[in-house]
Amino acid sequence: MARIDIDHIRHAYGPNPKASKDYALKEVHHTFEDGGAYALLGPSGCGKTTLLNIMSGLVEPSEGRILFDGRDVTRLSTQERNIAQVFQFPVIYDTMTVYDNLAFPLRNRGVPEVEVDRKVREIIAMIDLETWSKRKARGLTADQKQKISLGRGLVRSDVNAILFDEPLTVIDPHMKWQLRSQLKQLHRRFGYTMIYVTHDQTEALSFADKVVVMFDGEIVQIGTPAELFERPRHTFVGYFIGSPGMNVMPAAIDGTIARVGSQTIALPGMPVAATGSIELGIRPEFVRLGREGMPVTIDKIEDVGRHRIVRTRLEGRDLAAIVPEDGDIPADPRVAFDPAGINIYADSWRVDYGSAA
Ligand code: ADP
Ligand code: MG
Repeated sequence: MARIDIDHIRHAYGPNPKASKDYALKEVHHTFEDGGAYALLGPSGCGKTTLLNIMSGLVEPSEGRILFDGRDVTRLSTQERNIAQVFQFPVIYDTMTVYDNLAFPLRNRGVPEVEVDRKVREIIAMIDLETWSKRKARGLTADQKQKISLGRGLVRSDVNAILFDEPLTVIDPHMKWQLRSQLKQLHRRFGYTMIYVTHDQTEALSFADKVVVMFDGEIVQIGTPAELFERPRHTFVGYFIGSPGMNVMPAAIDGTIARVGSQTIALPGMPVAATGSIELGIRPEFVRLGREGMPVTIDKIEDVGRHRIVRTRLEGRDLAAIVPEDGDIPADPRVAFDPAGINIYADSWRVDYGSAA
């Protein structure tokens, strides 16, 4: 396993990139630590696959370098980088049996047959295809084929890293959950460096120790699930993560006071260098709906089981609040913001607070 440094990588698919919009990856500079379990999370088209393929060697970046344990591998092939990659759709040999498909990457490297057998059986059990072991892959369902593909990625233990590109897309929901927990277990047991691409926050947050959030060709935040929830560095992280996401509203700052429309909100400190387009962000979990605070109107109440999501309007803007199952929703509702949950953004980036003057 290896530490992977992404050293000032930029990538454009077209020739002669000039403006920032010409780049599928604008500038990525980051280290994936040896043995880490990472998720690359972001919406479709934000550059996740591009970044993964640059790490594995399928795409050569327009600018920058890739280092494995300090060694420059930018011009090396996938094979030379010794990487296992699992794609969104099955990549298997149709005419081989399930067993032989899994044995192939090992036999290819001259692993002794006893060891091949031990490892293949272990993986076949994990992907739940024991009864299909002797069957040719050709006749299998898309779901089963993808499990073989996943197994092929996991069968070798001598790889520098295992990269997954939305590997569970064609797998049914129950099996998805099961495979994801097994991946997590494998990671704990063997300490593989694993990088898992997904657009699904649940998948990312349950798999990874560190989540790398991408947006529009850039990494906007790297953090633990708790950090992404509590302190979104960018408004995009705020509304992409969480269910529902963070409420973000235009605001003006006056010392330790924020103004939203005609309302004033006390801040936990003085925002530093809050210039540009200012917004206040607060997660629905920190909006207290009751009889005190700013008047709102209620659009809709959604019962989601553990709690209710109340869709309100504050100063003509949407504001979601989370109310406990047994919480009271008064006829003349008002909201207050828990200071601990207030974030201030300038041009979409979070600003820190100085000490309250
Ligand atoms: P993601 O995996 O996050 O959905 P991609 O890395 O596939 O994003 O794509 C990032 C951007 O690069 C998108 O705008 C996409 O259209 C573009 N792109 C991806 N692959 C190619 C390609 N082979 N040729 C040209 N443009 C591409
Ligand atoms: Mg992709």
